[in-house]
Amino acid sequence: MIEAGALTHIWLGESRPDSASLANLVQKIFRNTLNDQVAFSPEFTSCNACARTSRGLFAECPYCGSEEVDGITRITGYFTKISSWNKGKLGELHDRYRSRRGSAL
Ligand SMILES: [Zn+2]
Repeated sequence: MIEAGALTHIWLGESRPDSASLANLVQKIFRNTLNDQVAFSPEFTSCNACARTSRGLFAECPYCGSEEVDGITRITGYFTKISSWNKGKLGELHDRYRSRRGSAL
């Protein structure tokens, strides 16, 4: 009844690829694969001390150095704070492949 194709989900972490590179990737995915959807998901760190939000997941706030931070990332289709996650979701987060180690979580 419902036709659904493959979804490619790309976690960007703190990276900010340029728009031409992203456009090139999307064109290659749709021209060369059977993917029907591509989702790009950045990750964030929210600081409870200085109330600033930074791109990427960090154990300390990049602005003030506080360890009173919470990560915000996407899981099962929506963005949530990591502190609300159960053990299974935390396991998935730690198992995500990261091409560059900028994250302390
Ligand atoms: Zn801070």
